Amino acid sequence: MSETREGGCLCGSVRYKVDWPLAALVVCHCTHCQKQAGSAFSLVGVAPRGGLHLTGELSTYEDSGTTGQTVYRQFCPRCGSPVLTDTPAAREQGIIFIKAGTLDSSEGLEPSLHYWCDSAHDWFAIPESVEKLATQ
Ligand SMILES: [Zn+2]
Ligand SMILES: [Zn+2]
Repeated sequence: MSETREGGCLCGSVRYKVDWPLAALVVCHCTHCQKQAGSAFSLVGVAPRGGLHLTGELSTYEDSGTTGQTVYRQFCPRCGSPVLTDTPAAREQGIIFIKAGTLDSSEGLEPSLHYWCDSAHDWFAIPESVEKLATQ
């Protein structure tokens, strides 16, 4: 039997179940993620679209990514938690991005890649053991 994990926004209006393990877990230090998360970086889980089951309504902010691509940033309209990120390329590849800080449990979360390290906060020490990309 396949495992699933659950998560949701701060107020609980939006809930989801996702197949576990995720395809990948990465940290994005891009300035757009910093702004949207109100934090130093964003923790991003990559999941097959078919492995995500979401209930509740998300609002979408249509962002323009650092390289000009459309980025749909989806958040709870009630509490503002960022929950999903989607892009036309992700749709073509059959994947979707989950803001992994919205998972109910942080057990076993270990990002394998950090990207946009050029804009990472100076105080944050990226572990030596992970792959680092200056941009994407
Ligand atoms: Zn909410
Ligand atoms: Zn980012």
